[in-house]
Amino acid sequence: MNMQQAYRACAFLVLVAAHPLAAAPPDGRLFDVLGYVATVRPDIQGGTVTGDVSIHLRLLSGKAETIELDRADLVIDEVRQQGRRLDFDLLPRRVRVHLPTPVARGESRELAISYHGAPRSGLRFVAERQQAYTIFSTSEWLVCVDAPDDKATFDLRLVLPAGLKAIGTGTLVSERPEPDGTIVHRFRQKRRASSYLFGFAAGRFIEVKAARGNTALRYLGDGFSPDELSRVFRDTPGMLDFFTRRAGVAYPLDTYTQALVANTAGQEAWGFSLLSDAYGHAVLDDPAAISLIAHELAHQWWGNLITCQDWTHFWLNEGFATFMAAAYDEERFGREVYLRDIDRARVRYEAVREAGGDRSLVFPDWNHPTANDRTIVYQKGAYVLHLLREQIGDDMFWAGIRRYTATHAGGSVTTDDFKRSMEESSGLNLGAFFDKWVYVRQ
Ligand SMILES: [Zn+2]
Repeated sequence: MNMQQAYRACAFLVLVAAHPLAAAPPDGRLFDVLGYVATVRPDIQGGTVTGDVSIHLRLLSGKAETIELDRADLVIDEVRQQGRRLDFDLLPRRVRVHLPTPVARGESRELAISYHGAPRSGLRFVAERQQAYTIFSTSEWLVCVDAPDDKATFDLRLVLPAGLKAIGTGTLVSERPEPDGTIVHRFRQKRRASSYLFGFAAGRFIEVKAARGNTALRYLGDGFSPDELSRVFRDTPGMLDFFTRRAGVAYPLDTYTQALVANTAGQEAWGFSLLSDAYGHAVLDDPAAISLIAHELAHQWWGNLITCQDWTHFWLNEGFATFMAAAYDEERFGREVYLRDIDRARVRYEAVREAGGDRSLVFPDWNHPTANDRTIVYQKGAYVLHLLREQIGDDMFWAGIRRYTATHAGGSVTTDDFKRSMEESSGLNLGAFFDKWVYVRQ
């Protein structure tokens, strides 16, 4: 995630309780979305989207008569439960749905919501290229829960004009022509993932197929030859091996797809990453300029499989991906290149520190991050991981990373989870290190 948008995706599902709540679960969430089933129709020329989503949710605590979901600026046309229309109120960037009967702890509900809108962010339309692709802020194009710790399955029917190729979250199940000439591309994501990782990309892409072990690799782009796409992504198989080894956990899906699109800073989704055409050309010019490819692939473990519980622990996504890209550079090009990467991170961090901007890697909030805040999360985060590696040594460091990754695979994490894994693995007390470098406590 190289992005401005994450701070927007921080609204939690809020429950308005009919009675005082019973004790909430340890992570504080009251409600859990189990899965989304959606049909999404982007109008690439018009810059608009219409959709229908069915949301299967379960109450974790208390009793509720209404629920609130994130909707950004989407217009809600109708909300139904078992065919019955429900009342709803529009709140800023949310919709509050009135349930016909209160829902109690442990009970489930299925809400069907129809909506439309013209997303300003979260879904980018590039009409002249016939491209559309999502950018993190999922509630801009899908009514959902934006909170990163509410992981859910996702079944997406993406309706597009004929002639476009689409990638999406999970596995492509079918591509079915409709009588009106459109094609319905259906993707099914069976493993639960954070909604900010849901997404798709559509365009006049060509595709190169490769594989590593049991993982299918797909490289897509428009305006690149098959040979060029193969050259841009030629390190991907080696990266997949390297991160699998470092994680101690297999890549979680059967396919990893990378697509070059008109313009993006680079972003990860569940099972795919988007990079820009300009970046693709930069790699063709300099085959060693592959850090961003490594960064986004590293997110498939650190960010996607193991997700920060909320954005205050965002460095567990971004500091990790930045550090892991440097670690891949070390594997591929040698120690000097790794140290160069770390030194660049250190220099950027120290400039912020000297300007008085040093902060804990755990942010009190992440609603309006500055450029300096992003430097803390990305560059200081990577540098601190390097310092920890230097302090405890390679064997203990990587054993701790494997323990952390295996323990929390599929879950959501806080900084203390990471500290605990490293301490349990090494047998060391890392309190002083974390106080100084992570929390910036005296
Ligand atoms: Zn990232």
